[in-house]
Amino acid sequence: MNKDQFLAKVRAAGVVGAGGAGFPTALKLASSPQYVLVNGAECEPLLKVDQQLAELRANELVRALSTVVAQLGAQGGVLAFKEKYQGALSALSREIKDQPNLSIKTLGNSYPMGDEQVLVYEVLGRVVPEGALPLAQGALVINVETLLNVFEAVYREAPVTHKYLTITGAVKKAATYRVPLGTSIAHVLEAAGQATVPDPVVITGGPMMGKLETDFSSPITKTTKGLIVLPKDHPVALAKSRDLAQMMRIAKTSCCHCAYCTELCPRFLLGHNLNPDKIMRLASYGQTGENFQRAGQVFLCCECGLCEQTCVMGLQPWRLNHELKGQLGPEVAKAFIKAPNSAVHRFRQLRGYPIPKLIQKLSLARFDPLKSKFESYPSQPNSVRLLLKQHLGAPSRPTVKPGDQVSLGTLIASPPPQATGAPIHASLSGHVSSVDSVSITIQAD
Ligand code: SF4
Ligand code: SF4
Repeated sequence: MNKDQFLAKVRAAGVVGAGGAGFPTALKLASSPQYVLVNGAECEPLLKVDQQLAELRANELVRALSTVVAQLGAQGGVLAFKEKYQGALSALSREIKDQPNLSIKTLGNSYPMGDEQVLVYEVLGRVVPEGALPLAQGALVINVETLLNVFEAVYREAPVTHKYLTITGAVKKAATYRVPLGTSIAHVLEAAGQATVPDPVVITGGPMMGKLETDFSSPITKTTKGLIVLPKDHPVALAKSRDLAQMMRIAKTSCCHCAYCTELCPRFLLGHNLNPDKIMRLASYGQTGENFQRAGQVFLCCECGLCEQTCVMGLQPWRLNHELKGQLGPEVAKAFIKAPNSAVHRFRQLRGYPIPKLIQKLSLARFDPLKSKFESYPSQPNSVRLLLKQHLGAPSRPTVKPGDQVSLGTLIASPPPQATGAPIHASLSGHVSSVDSVSITIQAD
């Protein structure tokens, strides 16, 4: 199998980044990095998908890494996992014994260890320049589940039809499941024995970077990493539903410019020119327009949300950054990120934010992550609704119509020609019951 054939298999299987924005993996792998880094940090509190998969499927993960390293002509592959993931580390250590170009790097238990740029520095000691990708430092970073999907695509010609996710929080049976894509949140909640609180809300993803979801008919996608069920008045749910304008009104009078948000910002600590305290000050006085060059630094923010947890006034600089990115637009981004990096902060190693402290701060300590065992999904859904856009790029176009029969893995939507995107495949055998501009619904027969 040559590299073109390898990439064609990954592309045809619809593999996209399983833990972030859904970047099409074939595009990412069309590169020549020096090192391939497997991101097993999984730093969002309560989520367990990657550490469990690495333990359960260590052999396939190592085979997949070895294949990617060989196909991309890389010098080596590194499996980067937190030291506390002992089960995963033991399984991986056994599997890499005879693989001289693969190694393991253990990481500390701080947030956001899984941020790509933090990971590259921790593993290789290299700082990714402002606004650049890890490839600028010879690194390709790939998530555990994504790499296993590459394995399925290459060795089994199996497309992406399921998603591993941890459902936890206020549910009877917290667990990690392999769920058909397009399954509703309500169905997954039922599998977990329902919420243990009245009027629950769900955070899709982790508590730090996840989104608040109140519509339980919403489907699971290729990037859903977890569902955290919370009472609607839980501090995490309240913070995510806070009104930005109200937060800014409070900021104007209560931001004391202590700069704690900056002093613990992971990108600032890497030497990037990102100062959330200064952005907050500019915005409080409505000066981001005049000072757009300075405000352009918001494009260096990865929206990890740590600044909210370090802010003594409970403000949310990351939300302001998100908003300003939309307002300022890509031209300002291009102009700003030409700025050179400063040196890595000399106290950086002392300023990692410990996960146990983060869990306390988020009032999540009562939800024990150890309870989320890996389980088989108890019952298949009767129908699935697959979104046409579950990835970065253009939405896919349906290749089926209502009434068509499909089997597990049938191609049902393809990206437009020449566009960035990924195909979508049936996650259930049955017939297509509806097709609209955003989704395809399949009914089991
Ligand atoms: S979200 Fe806050 S802490 Fe995280 S990178 Fe952005 S400014 Fe820094
Ligand atoms: S930590 Fe909060 S109060 Fe302090 S400068 Fe940042 S936003 Fe303002």
